[in-house]
Order: sequence, then C-alpha cells, then structure tokens
Amino acid sequence: MWNDRYANHAAVRPNTLEGHFDGVGQKSGDRNQQAGGLPVSKIATRIARRQLRQKQEEERAIGQRKADEHYMRLALQQARRAQALGEVPIGCVIVKEGQVIARGYNRRNTDHNTLSHAELNAIRKASRKLQDWRLEGCTIYITLEPCQMCSGAIVQSRIDRCVVGAMNPKAGCAGSVMNLLQVKGFNHQVDLTTGILEEACSQMLSEFFQKLRQEKQEKAAGNTETSVSADQS
Ligand SMILES: [Zn+2]
Repeated sequence: MWNDRYANHAAVRPNTLEGHFDGVGQKSGDRNQQAGGLPVSKIATRIARRQLRQKQEEERAIGQRKADEHYMRLALQQARRAQALGEVPIGCVIVKEGQVIARGYNRRNTDHNTLSHAELNAIRKASRKLQDWRLEGCTIYITLEPCQMCSGAIVQSRIDRCVVGAMNPKAGCAGSVMNLLQVKGFNHQVDLTTGILEEACSQMLSEFFQKLRQEKQEKAAGNTETSVSADQS
C-alpha cells in the first residue's frame, strides 16, 4: 500500500515538465498535469515569477550597496575633518529618505569631552534638525564600528539602520566585543550592515596611528639627543 503510493508519487513528479516539453509520451504528460496538481503552464509561470523576483532582489541589493558606498564616502570626508584637527579620524553621516540630515566627526580632544564622538555629534544635530529625539527612518553611516556609548545612543534614538566601515575588534559594540545594536531584550533593534568601504576606512585609521607612532619616536629621539648634548656641555 505504502509502496504503491510512493511509487506513483515518485513517477509523477520528475516527469511533470519533461513529458510536456519534449513531446515524448504526450499522453503521460497530460496525465502528469492532472496527477501533479498544477498544469505545466502554471509551473512555468511560477518559475518565471521566481526568477524575476530573484533578479529584482539582486538589483535592489546592488543599488543599496552603491548608495551605502556613496554615503560612506561622505562619512570618510567627516573623518578627514577629525584628522585635520589631529583627532582619531572617525566620521559619520545620518541619512533620511536619501538626504543627509546630519554630519559628525570625532572631536574628543578638541572639545575636552568624552561625549564628543562622531556619532553623538551627528545624532545631536539630526535631532535638532528633525526637532525630535526619535530618529526613526534614519540610517547612520560610520567609518568605524561604534563603541558601547554610541551603540547605546543609536538604540536609544531609534535609528533604523547602522552601516559600518571598519570593525574595531578591541572596542566595537556592533559585533566585535558585543553587539548592543541587536539585543533582543531591548525595545529596539538596529539593522546592521558592515564592511562598506572597509579597506579605505581602516587604512585611514592605520595611517593615522602609524604617523602618530612615528612622531612619538622622532620626539623621543629628539629628547635623547637634547639630553646627550646637555650632558656633554
Ligand atoms: Zn563612540
């Protein structure tokens, strides 16, 4: 009984399209249309629709990627402003409905303020612009994975999406040390995309730190020379 049913089912399914298209065994093809439950034309339509959906999804993903790279370039411009002040080059922009509504860059040393991270500076500006502490419908683009303070502020401000350039293995809270953006226990979770222009973002940081180390070494060497010449005089 079970074997009969199984044999019948197995015989019908693989041949459903084959019998129709190759013209062989037309009779069994007709029978397959009945036994398979769906006419071949409907199956073909479904396949075409699925392929169309896949293509649309791929095109949407490519478009999103291009837009993400565009806004990350603007965030990199902000990072350069931080660098010009001798700050760690971290920048960000906040985008709503395709418009940049706020920009921010790291000014921690300049402002003598722990809170003066790029993200918090941008969130403050965006809230002022929208006259609302809720930044719903906004995406924040940051050149470096946000810290615990900024990840907390992103969740608190109800930002929809966070796009990150370089990861920060020692202090990042969007997946590296922890992921504060997507804790299920909180009342808001943030969509997260990482790795956008990652190389450019991390290169800017590594060049900055390399230069800093070099300057320190040169300074130390200068001090040694001064003390040697002072000893000699
Ligand atoms: Zn931060």
